[in-house]
Amino acid sequence: MVRIASHRGGTLEFGDSTLLGFTKTAAMDLEEVEFDVHPTSDGAFVVHHDTTLDATTDTCGVISEMTLAAVKAATIRYSSGSNPLTLEELCDLYVESRVNFRCEMKLDHAGQPYRDFVKGVVTVLHRRSMLGRTVFSSFAVDYLDEVGKVADASSRLWLVSPSVLQQLGASTVIEIAKSHNIPEVGLHIDTASEELRDLFVAESIQFGCWAAHTKEQIKKALSLNVKVFTTDRPTLAIALRKNLRETTCRS
Ligand code: FE
Repeated sequence: MVRIASHRGGTLEFGDSTLLGFTKTAAMDLEEVEFDVHPTSDGAFVVHHDTTLDATTDTCGVISEMTLAAVKAATIRYSSGSNPLTLEELCDLYVESRVNFRCEMKLDHAGQPYRDFVKGVVTVLHRRSMLGRTVFSSFAVDYLDEVGKVADASSRLWLVSPSVLQQLGASTVIEIAKSHNIPEVGLHIDTASEELRDLFVAESIQFGCWAAHTKEQIKKALSLNVKVFTTDRPTLAIALRKNLRETTCRS
């Protein structure tokens, strides 16, 4: 069965990385919740997509230069008043849920890896009993290398951007994944194809997609029979997957 990952807790249905979205996702008939993490200046970890609060909240600032209290004072837009969650708070929401974590390790405001970030995130997940239920995704292979040193190496997923795929080509992407022992890649849904899926799978690399937000994109991910795809519209994805299963069962 194709796995569904609710992207940032279902941004198009519940707002971007909101308490409502993450709470709703925890009770959904899907397999993963995707979220992004950034460190604060005082050593906490915040669940938020952007490096800044500027575009998605009523507050401005670079998260890694702010204290947790300052980040917590922000209100996320279209969230019915919710504030950015800490990684601990997200763990508490999911510890009793059957939905697993897909944790994206983000780069800093200058596009560089945060220092001591991986170890810190892994420590929190371990303490909150979520480490064994987490897949770590990143566009940065450096982070995935670090994850391999402190967590289960099979829990790593390389997000390959359209530009990287275009510049390197599939065969070089496969070479890099293999040389870093990365077991899984995710491509943007619009760059995915049967041909590419078969190339990766033939090399024993698991193949998934990200950013399947429209009905057509979700249907494409389902028909490609990818391992997993992320979507901002988890409710729609669940309904489409259910329809497809019922149609397949009837025929
Ligand atoms: Fe993400």
